Order: sequence, then structure tokens, then C-alpha cells
Amino acid sequence: MNKIAKSFITIDSKSYEYVIEYKNIKNVYLRIKDGFIYVTCNKRTSKRFIENFLINKKDWIIKQLNKEHRKEERTLLYSDQEFLNYIKVNVNKFSKSLDLYPKKVTIKKMKSAWGSCTSNKNISINKELMYYKEELIDYVIVHELSHLKYMNHSKDFWSLVGSILPDYKALRKELKR
Ligand SMILES: [Zn+2]
Repeated sequence: MNKIAKSFITIDSKSYEYVIEYKNIKNVYLRIKDGFIYVTCNKRTSKRFIENFLINKKDWIIKQLNKEHRKEERTLLYSDQEFLNYIKVNVNKFSKSLDLYPKKVTIKKMKSAWGSCTSNKNISINKELMYYKEELIDYVIVHELSHLKYMNHSKDFWSLVGSILPDYKALRKELKR
């Protein structure tokens, strides 16, 4: 039977609980799940080795924990349905302001863009945006709606975006990170 132990480790003066799962394996494995740190190793692995191992991986651990935390926070705010509603309501709102109306709006997972607009006037919004603040979602909506008039990133395009969102430059920068 596998044995499980719980322990604490201090990383950058903050204490983290972690779970050690002892299995009949050769290597040491690390994973983050539901906000917990899991180490899998064999019974002969010393506590000291595990602690050093965790310290060595601390940047990765903190990054993963923060990522999960952000997703959780956002998921609590938005279900898929609520995100869809938010997009619908705000596409309507900004369509009226711009007097530009898409034929169809689709929400989908996209790898390399926050949104897209086709020459057939179909707009796609990246589903990943549900984890971002509303100002950034609005920016993507206004950006894609503005492409219904200008299929480029010309001066005219940006002045149209700026007529609705005067601080679009800061939002664009934030989203690029
Ligand atoms: Zn664009």
C-alpha cells in the first residue's frame, strides 16, 4: 500500500503544506493540484532531499499556485453561461455605440489571438478571456468590432477604438503581457 505524509515547507518566508506520496518508483515527481503541492517518491527518499528538491523548484511551484489561484477566482466570478451573457450584452452595447454589427459572435478556445474578425463579419472571442478583468474583455470586443469597419490596424482603426476606450493603449499593453 502507498503511504501518504503531510509536511510543511517554508519558501520565501511563507509556509506551504505539501503531501508526500510514497510509491515504489525510482524518481521524484512534483505536481500541483487544487492548490496543493504533491511530491511522489520512494520510501528511501530523505526528508532533506525532498525539501531541497522543493526549494530548487520554488519558482515553478509559486507560478503554478498563482495560476491556479487566478483561475479559481475567475471561475467563481464567471460560469461559462455568465461569460457568454457578458459577451452578448457588451457586444450589443458597443455595436450600438460604434454602429457596427457582427453577423455572428463565437466564443472559443484560441491559441494565438484574443479575438478575430473575418471579412464575413463573424467575430470570435477567446474563451480564456473569462479569467481576465472586464476592461480587458471590453477592449477585445471593441477591437474586433472596429475591424468590421477597418480590416487593418491603421490610424483610423485606432482612433475608432479610442473613441470608445480612450485608455485602449494601456489595456492593449496589459493584455500583451
Ligand atoms: Zn486587430
